[in-house]
Amino acid sequence: MSLTNYIVLFLSVFIGAFIAFYFKNISNKTTKLLISFSGAYLFSITVLHLMPETFNNENNHVIGLFVLIGFFIQIILEHFSQGVEHGHGHIHGSIPISIMIGLCIHSFIEGMPLGTPHHNHVNAHTHDSLLSAIVLHKIPVGIVLTHMLIQSKMSKARIFLFVVIFALTTPLGSFFSQYISNISGYYHEIMAIVIGIFLHISTTILFESSEGHHFNSQKILAIILGTSIALLSTFL
Ligand SMILES: [Zn+2]
Ligand SMILES: [Zn+2]
Repeated sequence: MSLTNYIVLFLSVFIGAFIAFYFKNISNKTTKLLISFSGAYLFSITVLHLMPETFNNENNHVIGLFVLIGFFIQIILEHFSQGVEHGHGHIHGSIPISIMIGLCIHSFIEGMPLGTPHHNHVNAHTHDSLLSAIVLHKIPVGIVLTHMLIQSKMSKARIFLFVVIFALTTPLGSFFSQYISNISGYYHEIMAIVIGIFLHISTTILFESSEGHHFNSQKILAIILGTSIALLSTFL
């Protein structure tokens, strides 16, 4: 993965943090719309790009198993992160360290497939769709996390430190698989775990965005927009 991609991954969290800091009054509603948009995009990229491009070798059943593993990993991580990945951020008082741990493990794993070298055109293409999906999903997560940190009344320096730590985890995951461990032979398995994680988060976002089953035209619009961008990137 190129240096530019590392920087883009790192900065995506900061865009979210910046929004949370400078638009302190950013309403819950606006954040929810952003989350719906990114959830729809994440779901569509997973189904349109990541799945077909990962299920294209002989051991598809094993890949399926790893998708399940990823899905269940996210169920466990959510107990720690309390659902910050899909926009839950109503913790008052001090921010539990478990939230940071859950979020950071999640982010580290999703960065890992990006660090594996791509041997062919299909892999390079998968990397691009994965990168865009992660970046668009980090911005609202950055907003929710920073918002929570501000609510917890910790000092600005500590908030900055937490945001930096969180922003570093995805690039660290990529760095780990690119330079430190020799896991690139398991590229498809790791990709399958990330697919499972994405399926969990994105479907949770989409289910929660129709909570109470009342029609919300703005949310529907955000979802259509997220899906359309992913569709355009596939078929244009
Ligand atoms: Zn939730
Ligand atoms: Zn994520």
